[in-house]
Amino acid sequence: MGWEANVRTVTPYVAGEQPKEQGVIKLNTNESPYPPAPGVARALREYDADILRKYPDAETEPLLSELAAYYGVEKEQVFVGVGSDDVLAMAFLTFFNHPTLPVLFPDITYSFYDVWAELFRIPYEVQMLDGQFRIKEEDYHKPNGGVIIPNPNAPTGELAPMQMFENILRANPDVVCIVDEAYIDFGGESCLKLIDRYENLLVVRTFSKSRALAGMRIGYAFGSKKLIRCLQDVKYSFNSYTMNSITLAAGVEAVRDDAYFKEITKKVITTRERSKRELAALGFSFPDSKSNFIFATHEKYDAKELFEALRAHNIYVRHWDKPRIGNYLRISIGTDEEMDTLFAFLKEYCRA
Ligand code: PMP
Repeated sequence: MGWEANVRTVTPYVAGEQPKEQGVIKLNTNESPYPPAPGVARALREYDADILRKYPDAETEPLLSELAAYYGVEKEQVFVGVGSDDVLAMAFLTFFNHPTLPVLFPDITYSFYDVWAELFRIPYEVQMLDGQFRIKEEDYHKPNGGVIIPNPNAPTGELAPMQMFENILRANPDVVCIVDEAYIDFGGESCLKLIDRYENLLVVRTFSKSRALAGMRIGYAFGSKKLIRCLQDVKYSFNSYTMNSITLAAGVEAVRDDAYFKEITKKVITTRERSKRELAALGFSFPDSKSNFIFATHEKYDAKELFEALRAHNIYVRHWDKPRIGNYLRISIGTDEEMDTLFAFLKEYCRA
């Protein structure tokens, strides 16, 4: 058909499965195994529906101020969006506009990056991680149209040192460098402290993992005032009201309860470290994760078969049929009880 020649065709990003049945141990999408801060439930209960007559605050107050105060930055250095996917999509659209030079990111990384690049017709070039799934800094010291790297990387869980990002920023003053810190709260050192020194740095975060609010869809970013203003301009040219007022109210409560935030991230870290010991004892190997998941492989067992066997027992993990990672499973950290069920299954599986 003639009209089809004018369609923007893309191969969409495929998210992890969200099973409808009860009783599934869901270790496949890196959600928090714990509920959001109690203040979130209170805010939702007490929310006055009459507020919904009006448009929400386009400037995303009061969440913007709450984040600025919590992280000790100015309001003009913060951006808020509908999950970090929304923030990242806006950032791709805003900052990655070189007509020929490619945007650089790792070959094994968040599988949405190439989808946005294709969607927005941004040239890109993936950079191979080394044999241990580590980023090779020198790959990012060459002419490019922008850089995006998650830290810790996903799905490997590998944390790169802040010094590496500082070197990359210094080598690339003419493009924007994005550090996707979706998993930074699980023990990594943030690049946030670099935003005052590097005007071209955008640090992107999410409420979906460490703040247990994946269903609410809240992402945020830090950068220089100039960078954030550019992002705002594009956002207001696309959809002024990305954040609804219920979400903004819930987000504020999640940030306010610092003690709860620290408690649940600490619990996930403790369970992760125990999970590493359990998996290693069963013969699995994995990069040393600093995230809320472990990317594990076993030389004796086929990952896809194990994925299917786990699934048949209502334990969902993530597997990709992709080069280099086809024999790995990404296992999100659940509660201790959920992990115990997983280990009990794996012990049987490895014995059989
Ligand atoms: N970045 C990375 C590296 C991720 O793994 C995810 C989770 N799928 C996201 C961003 C997006 O998360 P959200 O949109 O829920 O904030």
